[in-house]
Formats: sequence, C-alpha cells, structure tokens
Amino acid sequence: MAQPVLELKQLQTYFFSAQGTRVVKAVDGVSFAINQGETLGIVGESGSGKTVTSTSILRLLPPAARIVGGEILFNGENLVTKSEPEMRQLRGSQITMILQDPMMSLNPLFTIGEQIAEPIRIHRHMRGARLVERIKELLRGVRIPSPEVRMTEYPHQMSGGMRQRIVGAIGISCEPKLLIADEATTSLDVTIQAQYLDLLKDIQHRSNLAMIFITHNIGIVAKMCDQVGVMYAGKLVERAPVRTIFNSPAHPYTEALLHAVPSLTEKTDRLWSIEGQPPDLTNPPAGCPFHPRCPKAEDRCRSEVPPEFQVGENHIARCWLWEGR
Ligand code: SF4
Repeated sequence: MAQPVLELKQLQTYFFSAQGTRVVKAVDGVSFAINQGETLGIVGESGSGKTVTSTSILRLLPPAARIVGGEILFNGENLVTKSEPEMRQLRGSQITMILQDPMMSLNPLFTIGEQIAEPIRIHRHMRGARLVERIKELLRGVRIPSPEVRMTEYPHQMSGGMRQRIVGAIGISCEPKLLIADEATTSLDVTIQAQYLDLLKDIQHRSNLAMIFITHNIGIVAKMCDQVGVMYAGKLVERAPVRTIFNSPAHPYTEALLHAVPSLTEKTDRLWSIEGQPPDLTNPPAGCPFHPRCPKAEDRCRSEVPPEFQVGENHIARCWLWEGR
C-alpha cells in the first residue's frame, strides 16, 4: 500500500497560561491519514480544534501553544522534530494553506503578480520571462481573465471571488503535495463558492494533490471530501468515508450535526440546533466531553473518557455505545 502523504498519530497540541498553571488541550490525541489525490474534511463547531490541528501541521502556532505529543508524518518524515529553517522550506512549497479571508493573505501594497511570484522565486528559483509566464499560467488556471493585465493590479482592484481564486493560485504555485483550506469559501456567495469548489477539484485532479478541508458546511463536505473527521473538544470523535458518515453516523455528536442541517423538503417553523454549548476547555467535563449535551449518555459517560472503537472498515468512533459490538 502507498505511503500516505500525511499521517497524524496521536497529535497533542496544548495551550499554556503565562504562569503555566492552566492548560487547554486544544488538540488531544488526533490521528488520521491522507493519500495523494484524497480530500479529508474536518468538521465541528467553533473551538473544537480544527484550525489548531491545521496550524500544528504547518507548525505555525501562537507562542502559548506547544505540540506536546504525537507525530505529524509528511511523506514519512516527522514534522514535529524539524527545525524552523527546515519547516520554512516546506511551507508554501510542499504544504500550503488557504485561509477564510483572502485580504488576510494578500498584501494591499504589492501587485498580484509580485505576490504570486514570491513563493516561486524563493522555492523554485525561477526568474525573468519564465517566471512571468508561470504567473500568467497560474492566473489562467484559476480562471482569471486577461492575466497580463491582472498581474499588474492590486488586491483592492479585484472582486472577493477573484481575490479568493488568486489566493488559490498562490497556494498551488509551487505544486505542493498538500493543500489545507481553512474555511476557504466562507466569505464567498453561494454561486462563486460553487465555482471555486469546482476549480479546487479540477486543480486537485490535475495535480493529484492531497487536501484537508476545514469547514462548518456539511454540504461542502458532501461535495468535496473522500473521508470526514468530526472534531469535538479537541478530539476526533468520528472518522469514516464520506458516504458512511452521511448514511450511518456512529457518534451522537455526528448525528446531531447532520440533524442540524436544514431540510429543503420538510416545512418547519424553527431550525433545529444542538442543545447546550461546546465545553469550556479550561475546565472540561469529566468523562466523555459530549455527555452534557448527549441524549444517549449513560452513567459511565460522565466519568470515563471513551477510547476509539472500530465501528466498521475505516470507521472509528469515540463513544461507549460501540464497546463490545
Ligand atoms: Fe454520548 Fe456516552 Fe457516546 Fe459520549 S460516550 S457520545 S455521552 S453515549
């Protein structure tokens, strides 16, 4: 079997208070693997650890955060033990990230062409006419018309959809092996979002990229992903192929997330939502972190943390309901 492009093994990323007296387990024992050409969707409510998982992969964590355990294997090499100069070689060339707000990624003081050129110059050492040709090719690839004109313009001269596509062009400019899209379509209206997702699929098809899609949007997961990881309170509580997640979810939290998706056919006065709030990770509940909100909670759930149970082929869930089945 081919080696996965990326494999996380029991990754733990914690935040420490200035005095070191309080610890927040933002990512707590997360494991998954992605092969070339595959897309993993990571879903969950805000604060569940989705973004900290992706910034851990890139080792772009805030000063209060530290990876305290586990491995991040990229093409078999552990990123956790790499030096900062080694990580700089990988970021932007082998592993890239597209963020929610393109204006956060684009510098208003530089032209689009200069911003696309930068990673290619640094990582691929391309210069002159070849570099200009590559910029135009990338702009054409993300369906930006008149690339020779657009490359001389500034971000404020573009629409939101164009800016997001340009961020996508920068993301793939050095032909990375792994692209992480963190809520990359949230700021787009639905029509542009659909076009952008098609574009990313097309790019993935052409370059055999592995992708991680971090999203709140279950519809995007259904359209884009091969496998899904559901995060809650820093843990991956369920992981399965996308069809399995939709047809037979095994964790009560996944069931609740799917139930909260509005139906186009059923009439309702009120949208259904999951009762209660995600746990405060500075003071998490004992046992299963979902138990205060779980309609199926039993006594044991209030005191013992459930391990991963194998539910089916490539399907795991952290829920006591699956013990001994
Ligand atoms: Fe619910 Fe218990 Fe399963 Fe947690 S372990 S999801 S509380 S049934």
